Amino acid sequence: MRRIAVIGGGVTGLSVAWHLKSRGLGDVHLFERDRLGCGTTWHSAGDVTWYPGGDNDEQVLYLLELISRLEKQTGLFSGWRETGRVYLARDAAAMERYSKLHTIMQGRGVDTRLLSPKEAVSYHPLLNASALRGALYNPRSGNLNPTGLVELYVRSGRSLGVNIHERSEIRELSSASGRISGVVTAEGERLQFDDVVVCAGLWSPDLVGAQDIIPAQGGCEHFYIIMEMPERVWTKTPPSFLSTADLIYGREEVGGILLGFFDTHANVIDVGALPEPFSFALLNENWDKITPYFESAAELFPAFNDASVRSFINGPEAFTPDGKPLIGAAQGPEGLWLCTGMNSYGVTNSAATGHIIADLMAGVAPRFPADIYRVDRFGEKSRDPQWLRQSIADSPSSYFF
Ligand SMILES: Cc1cc2nc3c(=O)[nH]c(=O)nc-3n(C[C@H](O)[C@H](O)[C@H](O)COP(=O)(O)OP(=O)(O)OC[C@H]3O[C@@H](n4cnc5c(N)ncnc54)[C@H](O)[C@@H]3O)c2cc1C
Repeated sequence: MRRIAVIGGGVTGLSVAWHLKSRGLGDVHLFERDRLGCGTTWHSAGDVTWYPGGDNDEQVLYLLELISRLEKQTGLFSGWRETGRVYLARDAAAMERYSKLHTIMQGRGVDTRLLSPKEAVSYHPLLNASALRGALYNPRSGNLNPTGLVELYVRSGRSLGVNIHERSEIRELSSASGRISGVVTAEGERLQFDDVVVCAGLWSPDLVGAQDIIPAQGGCEHFYIIMEMPERVWTKTPPSFLSTADLIYGREEVGGILLGFFDTHANVIDVGALPEPFSFALLNENWDKITPYFESAAELFPAFNDASVRSFINGPEAFTPDGKPLIGAAQGPEGLWLCTGMNSYGVTNSAATGHIIADLMAGVAPRFPADIYRVDRFGEKSRDPQWLRQSIADSPSSYFF
């Protein structure tokens, strides 16, 4: 039987292992060096993110379908709350773009609605109508608990026969005659595998570097705050929100508001310099970075001026120069695959990523577009650290116009 190792127990690796096993592709072993979800996954805001371009609808719909299936099968709850989301427009040009998006999404069966400023306030009572030109409402948006999603993949994956090894660090990959042959553990044990899928998030380059593969990704700071509001003015959970012009997103969080920022010129981090082990860990608060975004968010939601900040979550995330993940054959030894560089939507994209890699490894036409994620799409440029550093700094905001 084909033996497959998946390295990394974040939401990506767990979905990949689940998809490989549910497709019957072989004997699947997942290795996580610490505990499941301890890298970037645990501190995700958990928003199921429909980016305002219309090209990720099918992937998002697949995640929602899979969550519902796994919840029924396992009896566990992912924390999914379908709150809807308002996409806020400040000017006519943004409204025009949302209008186009509305047509596309309706074509995909999502019952989006275009809202006047007054209507938008009726959806979200903290909004300031005078700062708005209008909004697009997507009723199928919402958020989940990333740890809940991890549990779903784990429980269902185990029931299918995925072997999950926690506290099992992989130090090296081995190959022979142009083909992957296995992995070497931190204890020096050599394990044989026919395929290895590297899903190690920020740390994927460390694993494949010795195979002369330089994935075009790097780590950036990415952050949100959670605020206590002086009073709760809503009776029912308001929709989450996103403003492309202000580079902000947010939602209700335990009676308060989570406010996140898609930073331009993000701080690029040196992954090798992160404290070891970087497990359930965060970076320092960075108030200077968020101030301008907060000020423009407060024009849209004046009540934010009276809020107190309960926590500041600054976590590292793996970004790529074009804001799209790297999924597919690693372009090194045969049998080596990469699913990495999730660009701040790895929770949302986890289901589609698992499906795509399972399709590629099964040798069938992928259900979702896969060429846009090809690992070698940046060519030799990915070997230029200067270029990579500069190009990823704007990736956290690259989806926005
Ligand atoms: C502040 C913030 C907010 C976010 N909000 C959202 C959101 O609202 N919606 C959304 O969709 N996404 C969001 N994201 C992005 C999302 O959290 C990530 O894209 C996703 O968690 C990445 O998952 P991963 O499995 O690829 O990486 P990770 O979760 O980092 O998993 C990689 C794993 O590999 C393990 N590992 C590394 N090296 C080895 C080794 N040698 N051997 C064995 N194991 C190893 C690590 O310990 C780690 O557990 C957010 C990210 C941040 C930082």
